[in-house]
Amino acid sequence: MTEPKAPSCIVKPGGVIGNLGGGQLARMLAMAAAQIGLKTHVFCPEAHCPAADVCAAITTAPYTDEAALSRFAEAVDVVTYEFENVPAGTVSFLTKRGAVVRPGARALEKAQDRLHEKDFLNQIGAATAAYCGVDDLPSLEAGLATVGRPAILKTRRLGYDGKGQTALTDDDHDLPGAYDKAIAFAWDEVGAAPSILEGFVPFQCEISIIGARGADGDIRLYDPIENVHRSGILKTSTVPAVITEATAQKAAAIAASILNALDYVGVIGVEFFVLSNGALIVNEFAPRVHNSGHWTSDACAVSQFEQHIRAVAGWPLGAPVRHSDAVMENLIGQEAGAWQSLAAKPGACLHLYGKHEARPGRKMGHVTQVRAKV
Ligand code: AMP
Repeated sequence: MTEPKAPSCIVKPGGVIGNLGGGQLARMLAMAAAQIGLKTHVFCPEAHCPAADVCAAITTAPYTDEAALSRFAEAVDVVTYEFENVPAGTVSFLTKRGAVVRPGARALEKAQDRLHEKDFLNQIGAATAAYCGVDDLPSLEAGLATVGRPAILKTRRLGYDGKGQTALTDDDHDLPGAYDKAIAFAWDEVGAAPSILEGFVPFQCEISIIGARGADGDIRLYDPIENVHRSGILKTSTVPAVITEATAQKAAAIAASILNALDYVGVIGVEFFVLSNGALIVNEFAPRVHNSGHWTSDACAVSQFEQHIRAVAGWPLGAPVRHSDAVMENLIGQEAGAWQSLAAKPGACLHLYGKHEARPGRKMGHVTQVRAKV
């Protein structure tokens, strides 16, 4: 077994960032790394992943392939990941092999399980929706009695873009027997998997904060972003968000406390619900670069992708200053077919992820409309 690399590990120009996952986030991270003279080695189970076009090296192997992981650990200077569902065993294996993994296993463990995530958020004083763990039909029924209706049942693990979720509304019990049926249906919808029941938050809008913490503990936060979802998938992200300065400051303070409590290194995305009185409820956080921060590539000197690379490489963080207003729109499924007209639009910055098959609900690219700041 090799000696662990120093926690203060600094990757110099020419060094190699190892990235677990090869999707569009890995693709944009690899391009940002190349811009500052760093190489990226992607580890991904799929051969034709979006990052394959732009990374310096790729290992195609399952996350459980210990021989491939060992070679990967030897070949890179630091390891990061582009999605929170990297198996915990993969990260602990790499760490035991001496790899420095940033952000660390603690952030991953909290973000992989919605119940642990909510417990953690409440422990550090960040408000969340009312919630309780659900393991079977009786605990779902008991949960509804405490959380109330409407409520959302979500799998604890592996849910994303609204997948693994189902709503329980106020009127499920209008007809005789309908209440029991609705509960059984909801439980079936989440695959009878360990879940969390969340009270529905009557939010006025949704915002997010993209923040970064460096290896030295330095914290930098981008401006709050206003997000609109369609069918559980992010559709648009707009900066500036139409919120009060007090709400913006509260959101920034919560994001900073999450970063510090996790002793985090890298970029994080924290999603909030804003209530009509300005109060903030944390929905969730993602221990990685975040879809709602894609506009930073076109409207900031240092994008969230470069910021993440700087953080995990042990570099000084960049100023998260925004030089333009921006509206980022995801191109989902067939929407990317309009690439020609989007490319011709003044002020539109088009990003396509090199995916061949435009399946419904699949993120194929995004377009950011920038406008000089007023
Ligand atoms: P999630 O996958 O948990 O981020 O949920 C996707 C989207 O569903 C959120 O961005 C909200 O628009 C909506 N949503 C999720 N949970 C709740 C909740 N407890 N109350 C209201 N809306 C929610």
